[in-house]
Amino acid sequence: MPGGFELRGKRVLVVGLARTGIATALFCAARGARVTATDSRSENEIGEAIGKLKIAGTSLELGGHHERTFLDQDLIVPSPGVPADAPHLQTARAKGVTIWSEIELAYRFMKGRLIGITGSNGKTTTTSLAEHILKTAGMPTILAGNIGTPLISCVDAMKDETWTVVELSSFQLELIETFRPNIGVFLNLTPDHLDRHHTMQAYGAAKARLFENQVGDDAAVLNADDNAATTYAPSLPRVYWFSRKHRLAQGAYVRGEEIVFRHDGTEEMILKLEDIPLAGAHNAENVLAAVAAARIAGAPPKAIANGVHSFAGVEHRLEFVAEISGVRYYNDSKATNVDATRKALDAFPGRILIILGGKDKGSDYTVLQKPLREKAILALLIGAASEKIEAQISGSVALERAETLAHAVELASLAAQPGDVVLLAPACASFDQFQNYEHRGRVFKDLVRQLEKQAAGATSGKR
Ligand code: ADP
Repeated sequence: MPGGFELRGKRVLVVGLARTGIATALFCAARGARVTATDSRSENEIGEAIGKLKIAGTSLELGGHHERTFLDQDLIVPSPGVPADAPHLQTARAKGVTIWSEIELAYRFMKGRLIGITGSNGKTTTTSLAEHILKTAGMPTILAGNIGTPLISCVDAMKDETWTVVELSSFQLELIETFRPNIGVFLNLTPDHLDRHHTMQAYGAAKARLFENQVGDDAAVLNADDNAATTYAPSLPRVYWFSRKHRLAQGAYVRGEEIVFRHDGTEEMILKLEDIPLAGAHNAENVLAAVAAARIAGAPPKAIANGVHSFAGVEHRLEFVAEISGVRYYNDSKATNVDATRKALDAFPGRILIILGGKDKGSDYTVLQKPLREKAILALLIGAASEKIEAQISGSVALERAETLAHAVELASLAAQPGDVVLLAPACASFDQFQNYEHRGRVFKDLVRQLEKQAAGATSGKR
């Protein structure tokens, strides 16, 4: 399907050497390109992956970048963490150097069919679920993107009959040219990453590039309940919707206590709402989106129901950790923006002790006032954003400055009563105190498990 690309002999610069950058550099080197890999970090900071790049014959420019290096290239592939408007990239673009994201390059070498999933929140959950459903239906699948492996590392494993399900960020979509999913899913659009995209319009437009190259038989799936996302519906013959609130002419929606799929005038019952194993209305939306994508891909209704039912959820997304003395602890470390935190608060009936804070991304925390007032009994603030959050939510809920996650968990465990929920859903990035959100989530889970042990010790001591 894709247009192909000859890498042999081409000068390729890979910018940013995290997982995707390393995979891209190795991919290009293996196909005969003359690869330079650059990163502002030093060799020591990047670690052992450097060895692999050296063996592959890659030239390295570490600890900073020279503008000249950007100009002497046929192709530049910036990692998702590098802003598309970084000055050296702009200079190179002005001189006519091609700049693609890794997904565009991968696409040129792909086989089989592709489901691409984007949105502000729910990408990983929906991508994992859609792939799990197709696998349950006996279809050959590959899970790619953030949660699995970069798309470019999956190319060699693809066959003509493979369905690759890939999670796509706005940063990756911003730098495509021909990338075209057979089924494109646009989950929702809420403020995030405005430090990078500057305006909501630019952010939405980057995501909507998902549909840009679609033709004929391709399908688009959008959230009918999300006003911001609906404006990006493409003018394709096969546009499907999903909704928790409305019946639809074409797509997946909730009818009474069931999820149904309607297609060309026929309505099929897929599964009961009570069979969704994930908490929260937002996860019902993710299920609707995955059901629509899977049904369009040809998975039978029964297999879709089995797939949803047997889905175990994804780590760090409203993940149940433990129940200690009647208090339930949930890890939603991936709630790195305000909307995700709001959805997490929504998922419980009330009496939540919430841990908020970390590195601010220019967010407006005042929108948390209402859900905090309704659902939370205590907010424990950690990290660099504490002061801003306190200023923006004070008055809506009792507050305590805990500074660290360990102290927050301790304070929460002391204050919580049986029946309460302790929720890490911080509405911020993690980089002020942790390597990433996974690290933050693991630290939280370790702290909770220590509490669990102490509680078990105290109980057995009493006997
Ligand atoms: P992404 O990959 O887009 O970041 P995830 O599935 O990893 O999405 O979930 C990120 C965060 O957003 C989690 O805190 C999760 O609980 C919350 N979330 C998941 N799905 C949705 C949704 N459809 N709408 C809003 N928030 C969601």
